[in-house]
Amino acid sequence: MLNLQDKDLLRQACLIDGDWVGADDGATDDVINPADGGVIGRVPRLGEAETLRAIDGAERAMVEWRRKTAKERAVLLRRWHDLMLEHQEDLAALMTAEQGKPLAEARGEIGFAASFLEWFAEEGRRTYGEVIPSPMGDRRLMVVKQPVGVCAAITPWNFPAAMIARKAGPALAAGCTIVIKPAGQTPYSALAMGELAQRAGIPAGVVNVVTGDARGIGGAMTASPKVRKLTFTGSTGIGKLLLRQCADTVKKVSMELGGNAPFIVFDDADLDQAVEGAMLAKFRNAGQTCVCANRLFVQDGIHDAFVERLAVRVAELKVGPGHEAGVSVGPLIDAAAADKVEQQLRDALAKGGKLHYGGERLAGNFLSPAVISEATPDMECFSEETFGPLAPVFRFRKEDEVLRLANDTEYGLAAYCYTRDLGRAWRMSEGLDYGMVGINNGHVSTCEAPFGGVKESGLGREGARQGIEDYLETKYVNMAI
Ligand code: ADP
Repeated sequence: MLNLQDKDLLRQACLIDGDWVGADDGATDDVINPADGGVIGRVPRLGEAETLRAIDGAERAMVEWRRKTAKERAVLLRRWHDLMLEHQEDLAALMTAEQGKPLAEARGEIGFAASFLEWFAEEGRRTYGEVIPSPMGDRRLMVVKQPVGVCAAITPWNFPAAMIARKAGPALAAGCTIVIKPAGQTPYSALAMGELAQRAGIPAGVVNVVTGDARGIGGAMTASPKVRKLTFTGSTGIGKLLLRQCADTVKKVSMELGGNAPFIVFDDADLDQAVEGAMLAKFRNAGQTCVCANRLFVQDGIHDAFVERLAVRVAELKVGPGHEAGVSVGPLIDAAAADKVEQQLRDALAKGGKLHYGGERLAGNFLSPAVISEATPDMECFSEETFGPLAPVFRFRKEDEVLRLANDTEYGLAAYCYTRDLGRAWRMSEGLDYGMVGINNGHVSTCEAPFGGVKESGLGREGARQGIEDYLETKYVNMAI
Protein backbone atom coordinates (compact mmCIF):
# COMPACT_ATOMS: atom_id res chain seq x y z
CA MET A 1 0.00 0.00 0.00
CA LEU A 2 1.10 3.55 -0.67
CA ASN A 3 2.26 5.14 2.51
CA LEU A 4 3.62 8.54 1.57
CA GLN A 5 5.29 10.84 4.07
CA ASP A 6 3.78 13.77 2.18
CA LYS A 7 0.24 12.74 1.29
CA ASP A 8 -0.31 15.80 -0.90
CA LEU A 9 2.05 14.33 -3.49
CA LEU A 10 -0.71 11.93 -4.50
CA ARG A 11 -2.66 14.37 -6.64
CA GLN A 12 -5.87 13.08 -8.20
CA ALA A 13 -6.68 16.24 -10.15
CA CYS A 14 -5.13 17.96 -13.15
CA LEU A 15 -3.10 21.16 -13.05
CA ILE A 16 -4.48 23.80 -15.40
CA ASP A 17 -3.37 27.41 -15.15
CA GLY A 18 -2.48 27.03 -11.49
CA ASP A 19 -5.72 25.28 -10.45
CA TRP A 20 -6.26 21.62 -9.60
CA VAL A 21 -9.31 20.56 -11.59
CA GLY A 22 -11.35 17.55 -12.63
CA ALA A 23 -12.94 16.76 -16.00
CA ASP A 24 -15.83 18.99 -17.05
CA ASP A 25 -18.10 15.95 -16.96
CA GLY A 26 -16.48 14.49 -13.83
CA ALA A 27 -15.14 11.45 -15.71
CA THR A 28 -12.14 9.60 -14.29
CA ASP A 29 -9.76 6.79 -15.25
CA ASP A 30 -8.50 4.14 -12.85
CA VAL A 31 -4.78 3.88 -12.30
CA ILE A 32 -3.67 0.28 -11.92
CA ASN A 33 -0.72 -1.18 -10.04
CA PRO A 34 0.87 -3.52 -12.61
CA ALA A 35 2.26 -5.78 -9.88
CA ASP A 36 -1.11 -6.87 -8.51
CA GLY A 37 -3.80 -5.39 -10.74
CA GLY A 38 -5.17 -3.34 -7.84
CA VAL A 39 -6.61 0.14 -8.33
CA ILE A 40 -4.29 2.79 -6.83
CA GLY A 41 -6.75 5.60 -7.44
CA ARG A 42 -8.48 7.68 -10.11
CA VAL A 43 -7.40 10.64 -12.19
CA PRO A 44 -9.53 12.97 -14.31
CA ARG A 45 -10.37 11.91 -17.82
CA LEU A 46 -9.91 15.21 -19.62
CA GLY A 47 -10.50 15.76 -23.31
CA GLU A 48 -10.28 18.47 -25.91
CA ALA A 49 -12.09 21.29 -24.07
CA GLU A 50 -9.99 21.15 -20.91
CA THR A 51 -6.79 20.81 -22.96
CA LEU A 52 -7.63 23.97 -24.91
CA ARG A 53 -8.06 25.79 -21.59
CA ALA A 54 -4.66 24.55 -20.45
CA ILE A 55 -3.15 25.82 -23.70
CA ASP A 56 -4.81 29.21 -23.17
CA GLY A 57 -3.37 29.32 -19.66
CA ALA A 58 0.07 28.43 -20.96
CA GLU A 59 -0.18 31.16 -23.58
CA ARG A 60 -1.14 33.80 -21.01
CA ALA A 61 1.57 32.68 -18.60
CA MET A 62 4.22 32.88 -21.27
CA VAL A 63 3.94 36.66 -21.50
CA GLU A 64 5.56 37.10 -18.07
CA TRP A 65 7.63 33.93 -18.07
CA ARG A 66 9.62 34.80 -21.18
CA ARG A 67 10.26 38.28 -19.80
CA LYS A 68 12.03 36.92 -16.75
CA THR A 69 15.79 36.74 -16.97
CA ALA A 70 17.33 33.35 -17.58
CA LYS A 71 18.80 33.59 -14.10
CA GLU A 72 15.37 34.14 -12.54
CA ARG A 73 14.00 31.11 -14.36
CA ALA A 74 17.07 29.13 -13.34
CA VAL A 75 16.44 29.84 -9.66
CA LEU A 76 12.91 28.42 -9.93
CA LEU A 77 14.01 25.38 -11.92
CA ARG A 78 16.72 24.71 -9.41
CA ARG A 79 14.16 24.87 -6.61
CA TRP A 80 12.00 22.36 -8.49
CA HIS A 81 15.07 20.11 -8.74
CA ASP A 82 15.76 20.44 -5.02
CA LEU A 83 12.16 19.58 -4.11
CA MET A 84 12.27 16.46 -6.27
CA LEU A 85 15.34 15.27 -4.40
CA GLU A 86 13.83 16.22 -1.03
CA HIS A 87 10.83 14.05 -1.88
CA GLN A 88 12.78 11.33 -3.65
CA GLU A 89 11.44 8.53 -1.44
CA ASP A 90 7.78 9.46 -1.90
CA LEU A 91 8.19 10.05 -5.63
CA ALA A 92 9.95 6.70 -5.99
CA ALA A 93 7.20 4.92 -4.06
CA LEU A 94 4.55 6.50 -6.29
CA MET A 95 6.46 5.50 -9.39
CA THR A 96 6.96 1.91 -8.31
CA ALA A 97 3.26 1.63 -7.47
CA GLU A 98 2.05 2.81 -10.88
CA GLN A 99 4.93 1.69 -13.11
CA GLY A 100 6.20 -1.46 -11.42
CA LYS A 101 9.96 -0.86 -11.55
CA PRO A 102 12.07 -1.86 -8.55
CA LEU A 103 12.26 0.84 -5.90
CA ALA A 104 16.02 1.27 -6.37
CA GLU A 105 15.46 1.99 -10.06
CA ALA A 106 12.61 4.38 -9.23
CA ARG A 107 14.85 6.30 -6.81
CA GLY A 108 17.50 6.40 -9.50
CA GLU A 109 15.00 7.76 -11.99
CA ILE A 110 13.97 10.59 -9.66
CA GLY A 111 17.62 11.60 -9.36
CA PHE A 112 18.02 11.30 -13.13
CA ALA A 113 14.87 13.38 -13.73
CA ALA A 114 15.97 16.09 -11.31
CA SER A 115 19.37 16.25 -13.01
CA PHE A 116 17.69 17.57 -16.19
CA LEU A 117 16.06 20.41 -14.28
CA GLU A 118 19.40 21.39 -12.82
CA TRP A 119 21.28 21.01 -16.11
CA PHE A 120 18.82 23.11 -18.10
CA ALA A 121 18.53 25.73 -15.35
CA GLU A 122 22.21 26.27 -16.02
CA GLU A 123 22.04 25.93 -19.82
CA GLY A 124 19.27 28.53 -20.00
CA ARG A 125 21.88 31.14 -19.11
CA ARG A 126 24.00 30.15 -22.09
CA THR A 127 21.58 30.51 -24.99
CA TYR A 128 24.01 32.74 -26.82
CA GLY A 129 23.25 34.56 -30.04
CA GLU A 130 25.94 35.97 -32.32
CA VAL A 131 27.03 39.05 -34.20
CA ILE A 132 27.89 38.42 -37.83
CA PRO A 133 30.59 40.51 -39.54
CA SER A 134 28.55 42.71 -41.86
CA PRO A 135 29.19 42.91 -45.60
CA MET A 136 27.95 46.57 -45.48
CA GLY A 137 29.52 49.36 -43.46
CA ASP A 138 26.19 50.84 -42.40
CA ARG A 139 24.54 47.60 -41.30
CA ARG A 140 24.88 45.36 -38.27
CA LEU A 141 23.77 41.73 -38.39
CA MET A 142 22.75 39.98 -35.20
CA VAL A 143 21.28 36.63 -34.27
CA VAL A 144 19.25 36.23 -31.09
CA LYS A 145 17.68 33.15 -29.55
CA GLN A 146 14.08 33.31 -28.41
CA PRO A 147 11.70 30.79 -26.83
CA VAL A 148 9.80 28.84 -29.47
CA GLY A 149 6.42 29.40 -27.77
CA VAL A 150 3.86 27.29 -25.93
CA CYS A 151 4.98 23.64 -25.91
CA ALA A 152 2.97 20.45 -25.61
CA ALA A 153 4.57 17.27 -24.29
CA ILE A 154 3.26 13.72 -24.57
CA THR A 155 5.21 11.23 -22.50
CA PRO A 156 5.33 7.44 -22.02
CA TRP A 157 4.97 5.20 -18.98
CA ASN A 158 8.43 3.61 -18.91
CA PHE A 159 10.18 6.67 -17.39
CA PRO A 160 7.27 8.55 -15.85
CA ALA A 161 9.37 11.36 -14.33
CA ALA A 162 12.53 11.58 -16.43
CA MET A 163 10.71 11.94 -19.75
CA ILE A 164 8.83 14.91 -18.35
CA ALA A 165 11.88 16.57 -16.81
CA ARG A 166 13.92 16.41 -19.96
CA LYS A 167 11.17 18.19 -21.87
CA ALA A 168 9.90 20.62 -19.23
CA GLY A 169 13.46 21.49 -18.11
CA PRO A 170 14.68 22.90 -21.43
CA ALA A 171 11.26 24.35 -22.30
CA LEU A 172 11.05 26.38 -19.09
CA ALA A 173 14.73 27.34 -19.15
CA ALA A 174 14.30 28.69 -22.68
CA GLY A 175 11.30 30.79 -21.63
CA CYS A 176 8.53 28.54 -22.96
CA THR A 177 5.50 27.31 -21.04
CA ILE A 178 4.25 23.74 -21.32
CA VAL A 179 1.19 21.49 -21.25
CA ILE A 180 2.12 17.92 -20.35
CA LYS A 181 0.11 14.78 -21.05
CA PRO A 182 1.60 11.81 -19.22
CA ALA A 183 0.81 8.22 -20.15
CA GLY A 184 -2.48 6.94 -18.76
CA GLN A 185 -0.66 4.19 -16.88
CA THR A 186 1.59 6.59 -14.93
CA PRO A 187 -0.16 9.91 -14.24
CA TYR A 188 0.74 10.19 -10.55
CA SER A 189 4.43 10.79 -11.11
CA ALA A 190 3.52 13.63 -13.49
CA LEU A 191 0.93 15.15 -11.16
CA ALA A 192 3.37 15.01 -8.24
CA MET A 193 5.90 16.86 -10.40
CA GLY A 194 3.21 19.46 -11.11
CA GLU A 195 2.61 19.83 -7.37
CA LEU A 196 6.33 20.33 -6.75
CA ALA A 197 6.61 22.83 -9.61
CA GLN A 198 3.91 24.85 -7.88
CA ARG A 199 5.65 24.60 -4.51
CA ALA A 200 8.87 25.73 -6.17
CA GLY A 201 7.11 28.97 -7.04
CA ILE A 202 6.88 28.41 -10.78
CA PRO A 203 4.00 30.72 -11.75
CA ALA A 204 0.48 29.49 -12.61
CA GLY A 205 0.11 28.37 -16.22
CA VAL A 206 3.82 27.75 -16.83
CA VAL A 207 3.50 24.03 -16.11
CA ASN A 208 0.16 22.34 -16.82
CA VAL A 209 -0.56 18.62 -16.49
CA VAL A 210 -3.56 17.04 -18.20
CA THR A 211 -4.54 13.38 -17.94
CA GLY A 212 -7.19 11.45 -19.81
CA ASP A 213 -8.27 10.74 -23.36
CA ALA A 214 -5.03 10.49 -25.36
CA ARG A 215 -6.64 11.07 -28.74
CA GLY A 216 -8.72 14.03 -27.58
CA ILE A 217 -5.84 15.68 -25.73
CA GLY A 218 -3.34 14.92 -28.50
CA GLY A 219 -5.82 16.19 -31.09
CA ALA A 220 -6.28 19.49 -29.28
CA MET A 221 -2.55 19.92 -28.75
CA THR A 222 -1.64 19.26 -32.36
CA ALA A 223 -4.51 21.26 -33.91
CA SER A 224 -4.04 24.38 -31.79
CA PRO A 225 -2.10 27.13 -33.57
CA LYS A 226 -1.15 28.44 -30.12
CA VAL A 227 1.04 25.40 -29.53
CA ARG A 228 4.29 26.04 -31.40
CA LYS A 229 6.08 22.85 -30.50
CA LEU A 230 5.17 19.25 -29.78
CA THR A 231 7.64 17.06 -27.98
CA PHE A 232 6.81 13.36 -27.86
CA THR A 233 8.36 10.21 -26.47
CA GLY A 234 6.62 6.97 -27.30
CA SER A 235 6.05 4.43 -30.03
CA THR A 236 7.04 5.08 -33.63
CA GLY A 237 3.45 4.48 -34.76
CA ILE A 238 1.95 7.19 -32.55
CA GLY A 239 4.92 9.46 -33.32
CA LYS A 240 4.15 9.25 -37.04
CA LEU A 241 0.49 9.98 -36.39
CA LEU A 242 1.36 13.05 -34.31
CA LEU A 243 3.85 14.25 -36.94
CA ARG A 244 1.07 14.14 -39.51
CA GLN A 245 -1.28 15.97 -37.15
CA CYS A 246 1.36 18.67 -36.57
CA ALA A 247 1.76 19.29 -40.29
CA ASP A 248 -1.31 21.52 -40.59
CA THR A 249 0.03 24.11 -38.17
CA VAL A 250 3.71 23.54 -39.11
CA LYS A 251 4.85 22.97 -35.56
CA LYS A 252 8.33 22.29 -34.47
CA VAL A 253 8.57 18.69 -33.29
CA SER A 254 10.87 16.55 -31.21
CA MET A 255 10.32 12.82 -31.42
CA GLU A 256 11.93 10.14 -29.28
CA LEU A 257 10.56 6.95 -30.76
CA GLY A 258 11.23 3.22 -30.74
CA GLY A 259 14.55 1.43 -30.94
CA ASN A 260 15.97 -1.93 -31.92
CA ALA A 261 19.38 -1.71 -30.31
CA PRO A 262 22.14 -4.08 -31.37
CA PHE A 263 24.50 -5.19 -28.61
CA ILE A 264 27.66 -6.46 -30.30
CA VAL A 265 30.34 -8.50 -28.58
CA PHE A 266 33.58 -9.27 -30.44
CA ASP A 267 35.95 -12.11 -29.58
CA ASP A 268 38.45 -9.70 -28.07
CA ALA A 269 35.94 -8.19 -25.62
CA ASP A 270 36.31 -8.50 -21.87
CA LEU A 271 33.77 -11.23 -21.17
CA ASP A 272 32.75 -10.07 -17.69
CA GLN A 273 32.42 -6.48 -18.80
CA ALA A 274 30.31 -7.50 -21.80
CA VAL A 275 27.98 -9.70 -19.74
CA GLU A 276 27.51 -7.02 -17.08
CA GLY A 277 26.86 -4.46 -19.80
CA ALA A 278 24.28 -6.76 -21.36
CA MET A 279 22.55 -7.21 -18.01
CA LEU A 280 22.19 -3.47 -17.67
CA ALA A 281 21.31 -2.76 -21.28
CA LYS A 282 18.80 -5.61 -21.51
CA PHE A 283 17.09 -6.01 -18.16
CA ARG A 284 16.87 -2.52 -16.69
CA ASN A 285 13.21 -1.63 -16.18
CA ALA A 286 12.38 -5.26 -17.10
CA GLY A 287 13.58 -4.55 -20.63
CA GLN A 288 11.12 -1.71 -21.09
CA THR A 289 13.35 1.10 -22.31
CA CYS A 290 13.75 2.36 -25.84
CA VAL A 291 17.54 1.98 -25.58
CA CYS A 292 17.33 -1.61 -24.31
CA ALA A 293 19.57 -4.10 -26.09
CA ASN A 294 17.11 -5.83 -28.41
CA ARG A 295 19.46 -8.07 -30.39
CA LEU A 296 22.67 -9.48 -28.92
CA PHE A 297 25.24 -10.27 -31.64
CA VAL A 298 28.12 -12.34 -30.29
CA GLN A 299 31.19 -13.41 -32.29
CA ASP A 300 31.86 -17.10 -32.80
CA GLY A 301 34.92 -17.42 -30.57
CA ILE A 302 33.34 -15.93 -27.43
CA HIS A 303 29.75 -16.96 -28.16
CA ASP A 304 29.38 -20.07 -26.00
CA ALA A 305 31.17 -18.58 -22.99
CA PHE A 306 29.05 -15.43 -23.25
CA VAL A 307 25.75 -17.31 -23.44
CA GLU A 308 26.66 -19.56 -20.55
CA ARG A 309 27.73 -16.66 -18.37
CA LEU A 310 24.72 -14.55 -19.30
CA ALA A 311 22.33 -17.37 -18.39
CA VAL A 312 24.02 -17.74 -14.98
CA ARG A 313 23.70 -14.00 -14.30
CA VAL A 314 20.10 -13.88 -15.48
CA ALA A 315 19.22 -16.76 -13.17
CA GLU A 316 20.39 -14.56 -10.30
CA LEU A 317 17.85 -11.85 -11.06
CA LYS A 318 15.02 -11.68 -8.55
CA VAL A 319 11.60 -11.16 -10.11
CA GLY A 320 8.85 -9.64 -7.98
CA PRO A 321 6.88 -6.55 -6.98
CA GLY A 322 9.10 -3.48 -7.17
CA HIS A 323 8.68 -2.46 -3.54
CA GLU A 324 10.10 -5.77 -2.22
CA ALA A 325 13.71 -5.76 -1.11
CA GLY A 326 16.22 -7.31 -3.50
CA VAL A 327 13.90 -7.36 -6.52
CA SER A 328 15.70 -6.49 -9.75
CA VAL A 329 12.96 -7.23 -12.31
CA GLY A 330 9.42 -5.98 -11.73
CA PRO A 331 6.23 -6.76 -13.64
CA LEU A 332 5.67 -5.65 -17.20
CA ILE A 333 3.37 -2.68 -17.52
CA ASP A 334 0.31 -4.73 -18.51
CA ALA A 335 -0.84 -8.10 -19.80
CA ALA A 336 -0.53 -7.05 -23.44
CA ALA A 337 3.15 -6.20 -22.93
CA ALA A 338 3.79 -9.61 -21.35
CA ASP A 339 1.82 -11.33 -24.14
CA LYS A 340 4.00 -9.67 -26.76
CA VAL A 341 7.23 -10.92 -25.18
CA GLU A 342 5.76 -14.43 -24.87
CA GLN A 343 4.77 -14.33 -28.53
CA GLN A 344 8.30 -13.32 -29.58
CA LEU A 345 9.70 -16.14 -27.48
CA ARG A 346 7.33 -18.72 -28.99
CA ASP A 347 8.19 -17.48 -32.48
CA ALA A 348 11.93 -17.70 -31.76
CA LEU A 349 11.69 -21.21 -30.34
CA ALA A 350 9.56 -22.38 -33.28
CA LYS A 351 12.25 -21.09 -35.65
CA GLY A 352 15.13 -22.95 -34.00
CA GLY A 353 16.02 -20.76 -31.01
CA LYS A 354 17.50 -22.57 -28.02
CA LEU A 355 16.28 -21.59 -24.57
CA HIS A 356 19.00 -21.36 -21.90
CA TYR A 357 17.01 -19.85 -19.08
CA GLY A 358 13.63 -18.39 -18.15
CA GLY A 359 10.74 -17.51 -20.41
CA GLU A 360 7.95 -18.48 -18.05
CA ARG A 361 4.87 -16.43 -17.47
CA LEU A 362 4.77 -16.13 -13.72
CA ALA A 363 1.71 -14.66 -12.01
CA GLY A 364 -0.04 -11.72 -13.70
CA ASN A 365 2.31 -9.48 -15.67
CA PHE A 366 5.50 -11.10 -14.40
CA LEU A 367 7.85 -12.92 -16.76
CA SER A 368 11.04 -14.73 -15.86
CA PRO A 369 13.84 -13.12 -17.89
CA ALA A 370 14.84 -15.32 -20.79
CA VAL A 371 18.06 -16.04 -22.67
CA ILE A 372 17.99 -17.78 -26.05
CA SER A 373 20.75 -18.56 -28.52
CA GLU A 374 20.67 -19.58 -32.21
CA ALA A 375 18.57 -16.51 -32.93
CA THR A 376 18.19 -15.66 -36.62
CA PRO A 377 17.06 -12.63 -38.66
CA ASP A 378 13.77 -14.26 -39.67
CA MET A 379 12.58 -14.14 -36.06
CA GLU A 380 10.23 -11.43 -34.82
CA CYS A 381 12.75 -10.46 -32.14
CA PHE A 382 15.16 -9.38 -34.89
CA SER A 383 12.87 -6.85 -36.49
CA GLU A 384 10.45 -5.85 -33.69
CA GLU A 385 11.18 -3.98 -30.50
CA THR A 386 10.72 -6.53 -27.68
CA PHE A 387 10.26 -4.11 -24.77
CA GLY A 388 10.60 -6.92 -22.29
CA PRO A 389 13.05 -9.30 -20.60
CA LEU A 390 13.99 -11.53 -23.54
CA ALA A 391 17.65 -11.65 -24.63
CA PRO A 392 18.10 -13.30 -28.04
CA VAL A 393 21.72 -14.07 -28.96
CA PHE A 394 22.72 -14.10 -32.65
CA ARG A 395 26.04 -15.69 -33.63
CA PHE A 396 28.26 -13.87 -36.14
CA ARG A 397 31.72 -14.27 -37.66
CA LYS A 398 32.90 -11.08 -39.34
CA GLU A 399 32.89 -7.36 -38.60
CA ASP A 400 31.26 -6.33 -41.88
CA GLU A 401 28.62 -9.05 -41.44
CA VAL A 402 27.59 -7.83 -37.99
CA LEU A 403 27.58 -4.18 -39.07
CA ARG A 404 25.19 -5.05 -41.89
CA LEU A 405 22.92 -7.04 -39.54
CA ALA A 406 23.01 -4.33 -36.87
CA ASN A 407 21.98 -1.65 -39.37
CA ASP A 408 19.29 -3.83 -40.96
CA THR A 409 16.39 -2.07 -39.22
CA GLU A 410 14.29 1.04 -39.70
CA TYR A 411 15.27 2.10 -36.17
CA GLY A 412 18.42 3.97 -35.15
CA LEU A 413 18.41 4.91 -31.48
CA ALA A 414 21.15 3.23 -29.40
CA ALA A 415 23.79 0.63 -30.23
CA TYR A 416 26.41 -1.04 -28.05
CA CYS A 417 29.72 -2.57 -29.02
CA TYR A 418 32.30 -4.48 -26.98
CA THR A 419 35.85 -4.76 -28.28
CA ARG A 420 39.34 -3.92 -27.05
CA ASP A 421 40.60 -3.16 -30.56
CA LEU A 422 40.77 0.62 -30.84
CA GLY A 423 40.54 0.69 -34.63
CA ARG A 424 37.49 -1.53 -34.57
CA ALA A 425 35.86 0.62 -31.88
CA TRP A 426 36.22 3.63 -34.17
CA ARG A 427 35.06 1.79 -37.28
CA MET A 428 32.01 0.44 -35.49
CA SER A 429 31.03 3.72 -33.85
CA GLU A 430 31.26 5.45 -37.23
CA GLY A 431 29.52 2.66 -39.14
CA LEU A 432 26.61 2.03 -36.79
CA ASP A 433 23.62 3.95 -38.12
CA TYR A 434 22.44 5.03 -34.67
CA GLY A 435 22.13 8.28 -32.72
CA MET A 436 24.03 6.90 -29.73
CA VAL A 437 26.77 4.30 -29.42
CA GLY A 438 28.08 2.76 -26.21
CA ILE A 439 31.58 1.32 -26.54
CA ASN A 440 32.35 -1.21 -23.80
CA ASN A 441 29.44 0.32 -21.93
CA GLY A 442 25.79 -0.66 -21.64
CA HIS A 443 24.40 2.59 -20.29
CA VAL A 444 24.72 5.88 -22.16
CA SER A 445 21.99 8.18 -20.77
CA THR A 446 23.07 11.24 -18.80
CA CYS A 447 21.74 14.79 -18.75
CA GLU A 448 25.04 16.18 -20.11
CA ALA A 449 24.87 14.17 -23.37
CA PRO A 450 22.56 14.44 -26.40
CA PHE A 451 20.02 11.61 -26.36
CA GLY A 452 18.17 10.85 -29.57
CA GLY A 453 17.84 8.72 -32.63
CA VAL A 454 18.18 8.68 -36.39
CA LYS A 455 15.95 7.03 -39.05
CA GLU A 456 12.54 6.13 -37.61
CA SER A 457 13.78 6.46 -34.04
CA GLY A 458 13.16 10.15 -34.01
CA LEU A 459 13.94 13.80 -34.52
CA GLY A 460 15.87 16.13 -32.24
CA ARG A 461 18.00 15.60 -29.16
CA GLU A 462 17.24 15.73 -25.46
CA GLY A 463 19.77 16.65 -22.78
CA ALA A 464 23.14 18.27 -23.37
CA ARG A 465 23.58 21.78 -24.74
CA GLN A 466 21.77 20.58 -27.88
CA GLY A 467 18.66 19.81 -25.82
CA ILE A 468 17.71 23.45 -25.33
CA GLU A 469 18.15 24.31 -29.02
CA ASP A 470 14.95 22.42 -29.78
CA TYR A 471 13.06 24.96 -27.64
CA LEU A 472 14.62 28.05 -29.20
CA GLU A 473 13.99 29.97 -32.39
CA THR A 474 16.77 31.77 -34.19
CA LYS A 475 15.94 35.38 -34.98
CA TYR A 476 18.08 37.46 -37.32
CA VAL A 477 18.13 41.23 -36.86
CA ASN A 478 19.57 43.46 -39.58
CA MET A 479 20.08 46.98 -38.27
CA ALA A 480 21.01 50.05 -40.30
CA ILE A 481 23.14 52.43 -38.24
P1 ADP B 1 3.36 2.70 -25.64
O1 ADP B 1 3.11 1.66 -26.66
O2 ADP B 1 4.71 2.66 -25.04
O3 ADP B 1 2.27 2.89 -24.63
P2 ADP B 1 2.43 5.01 -27.05
O4 ADP B 1 3.11 5.66 -28.18
O5 ADP B 1 1.12 4.35 -27.29
O6 ADP B 1 3.50 4.03 -26.46
O7 ADP B 1 2.22 6.01 -25.85
C1 ADP B 1 3.07 7.09 -25.58
C2 ADP B 1 2.24 8.28 -25.20
O8 ADP B 1 1.42 8.62 -26.32
C3 ADP B 1 1.29 8.06 -24.05
O9 ADP B 1 1.20 9.25 -23.29
C4 ADP B 1 -0.03 7.78 -24.74
O10 ADP B 1 -1.15 8.09 -23.94
C5 ADP B 1 0.07 8.74 -25.90
N1 ADP B 1 -0.82 8.44 -27.03
C6 ADP B 1 -1.26 7.24 -27.45
N2 ADP B 1 -2.08 7.38 -28.52
C7 ADP B 1 -2.17 8.71 -28.77
C8 ADP B 1 -2.86 9.51 -29.74
N3 ADP B 1 -3.63 8.96 -30.67
N4 ADP B 1 -2.70 10.86 -29.67
C9 ADP B 1 -1.93 11.42 -28.73
N5 ADP B 1 -1.26 10.72 -27.81
C10 ADP B 1 -1.36 9.38 -27.81
